[in-house]
Amino acid sequence: MSVAVCLFTADLRLHDNPVLRAALRGAERVVPLFVLDEGVRAAGFDAPNRRAFLADCLAGLDAGLRERGGRLVLRSGGVVAEVCAVADRYGAREVHVAAGSSAYAQRREERLGAALARRGRTLRVHDAVVTVAPPGAHVPQGKDHFAVFTPYFWRWHGTAARKPLAAPRSVPVPEDIGAPDLPRRAGVAGVSPGLATGGEHEARRHVTSWLRTSLDAYADRNSDLAADATSRLSPHLHFGTLSATELVHRAGRRANPGAEAFVRQLAWRDFHQQVLAARPQAAHSDYRPRLDRWRHDDAEAQAWRDGLTGYPVIDAAMRQLRHEGWMPGRARMLTASFLTKTLYLDWRVGARHFLDLLVDGDVANNQLNWQWTAGTGTDTRPNRVLNPTVQARRHDPRGDYVRRWLPELAGLEGAAVHEPWKLPPRERARYDYPAPLVELPAALARFTRARGLA
Ligand code: FAD
Repeated sequence: MSVAVCLFTADLRLHDNPVLRAALRGAERVVPLFVLDEGVRAAGFDAPNRRAFLADCLAGLDAGLRERGGRLVLRSGGVVAEVCAVADRYGAREVHVAAGSSAYAQRREERLGAALARRGRTLRVHDAVVTVAPPGAHVPQGKDHFAVFTPYFWRWHGTAARKPLAAPRSVPVPEDIGAPDLPRRAGVAGVSPGLATGGEHEARRHVTSWLRTSLDAYADRNSDLAADATSRLSPHLHFGTLSATELVHRAGRRANPGAEAFVRQLAWRDFHQQVLAARPQAAHSDYRPRLDRWRHDDAEAQAWRDGLTGYPVIDAAMRQLRHEGWMPGRARMLTASFLTKTLYLDWRVGARHFLDLLVDGDVANNQLNWQWTAGTGTDTRPNRVLNPTVQARRHDPRGDYVRRWLPELAGLEGAAVHEPWKLPPRERARYDYPAPLVELPAALARFTRARGLA
């Protein structure tokens, strides 16, 4: 009886999973394996919100496998040693895994491939599982990646994505696979109270409902903070309980501006993955150095983390992040711009805090979006500064988003909630809310000088 291992990583799903399909095609029995990787823990990526969401995803994966006659095998430890031990135990000739783009994933593939080869086994790495287009599939002539989004997008958009695959009807596993000792979400400490539910079942329910009710209006409403009208699919895409390729096909059936804008956002995800795959050091170092000499101010950084900067839209977003482990894209941009350009603090300080809390936090999207906002990344206008008050009036015109997250300002009506410092002193004293941490014109002048633009 031939056996193959299907190593799940960022593809915790049965629908449209080329890794699982290839493993099933190549052997009579498959060992569906997930390793709680101590390397991820050691690198500080094992944040409570993601650990809790992962627990849901693993429970869902095991349930889906059981419906098909299978079972999930769960191990914890060093990923290379654990995969080799499982392959030895079941006599698997091949191990199948999705290609990753981070330095960590690339090293994992190299080390695993070498270790398996020493045992006479083969690692099969599958592209276009985590992303729609594999990193390196689209490159400008003579270069190893696209450094600017728009030309990347045209190339990406002009190339048909592979067809999504149905979930397998059955997953035959070796007979002696027992029940896995799954982690429990309830057992994770320090989880955001409003954290979403994970798992493939939830991902599929959510996407079907969102595509039906909200996709068409996406182009008009994705920056409206109070509307909460974006898809909130990022955690499902991060853990791979939903396939980005399937999403492109499903959204693309509706040829309207909402669908087009949404598919374009999915291309951003691939864009960042291909930058990171070509420049793994961009996870830590400036992609385009601007000779920044960032300020260090722990008190200001902490006020930003705590949502106590005195700029209501920034503080509302930071409180949402803490409460839900998630924030809409527009809010991420505003808070990141505030930290890096208004306070002129290092983007790595903010990126770390986001990674500590974001349920969708990942190296490619987080670090490269932070760099984009800080102007050290791929933004073609690296010195643009987002004024929090102007942005608040534009994207939360009635002030509803701010009042939702800052109960202490709930008594302020309409857009007045964005500028509490304009209240007469006696009225202002009624609100338990800090004065602005910095004056905007002075902060802008400081940034302009720092970037040598003055
Ligand atoms: P929608 O607006 O519904 O978009 C659909 C999908 O497109 C998203 O789920 C996401 O997969 C993708 N997408 C949208 N915008 C971007 C973008 N700018 N870059 C890459 N992919 C995008 N996204 C993450 O998945 N993980 C992160 O750690 C992360 N950190 C970020 C940090 C900063 C400072 C900024 C500015 C953005 C960050 N983003 C990150 C990108 C984006 O903000 C989120 O993906 C998006 O807000 C998630 O909400 P949604 O699913 O409702 O998005």
